[in-house]
Amino acid sequence: MTSPAMTGPAASSLTTTSGPPLLSDPRVRGIRVVDDGSPMVDVASAGVRVEPAAPAPPPGLGLEWVAAPARSHRLVRRTLADRLGEAQATLPDGLHLLVVEGLRPAGAQGAIHAAYRRRIADEQPWLGADEIDRLTSRFVAPPTNAPHVSGAAVDITLVDPGGERLDLGTPVDATPEESAGACYFDSQGISSQARQLRSVLALALGRAGLVNYPTEWWHWSFGDRYWAHVTGAPFAIHGPVDRDPTPAR
Ligand SMILES: [Zn+2]
Repeated sequence: MTSPAMTGPAASSLTTTSGPPLLSDPRVRGIRVVDDGSPMVDVASAGVRVEPAAPAPPPGLGLEWVAAPARSHRLVRRTLADRLGEAQATLPDGLHLLVVEGLRPAGAQGAIHAAYRRRIADEQPWLGADEIDRLTSRFVAPPTNAPHVSGAAVDITLVDPGGERLDLGTPVDATPEESAGACYFDSQGISSQARQLRSVLALALGRAGLVNYPTEWWHWSFGDRYWAHVTGAPFAIHGPVDRDPTPAR
């Protein structure tokens, strides 16, 4: 049976090799990185709201917690923080950005990637390794190629003036399986109000120069390989941050 949420342009890439390129795609993985050295800053320094606590690992993966330095989820490259500040300024009155997660240390990325990849392999044991990698990267990037590990991506949503999260169709971090594809930005399986809010979010972030990862409505980046792929930039300007993620003063 085909659920209504699984129709639309992006849905085909749930189970086939068509659809937008994913982070595991060689066309994305092969992009060169020439890091511009932009420092890590607390995203609140750009006037953008951020969740006080780091997010729990996605449910359903058997992970109760992943190790990460306290408050590292608040950190992003300064280039990205500045653009988020610009985007916040263009939102309609009464709407605010809320960053749920910026930097994700490589160890945490690796743990989430391994757990989700294992789940896909367990549930679909007939798949080959390449297809398991591709399906895994709809939801979580390989640690060597992950925008969050570069401080170049945020998981972000909209809140009202009181800080209540608005309904954009699924929770942040819903897997394709759990949301029946409604986590895809273009999903038709969401309410018209949620669709409108996704458009408002996309307009503000897109004008500020960020790009969306089409299988996750909440994931936006600047300067990483996916950004370079989408914008046609000759190389990415933010690669993985493997130094101690201490914010610049
Ligand atoms: Zn993300």
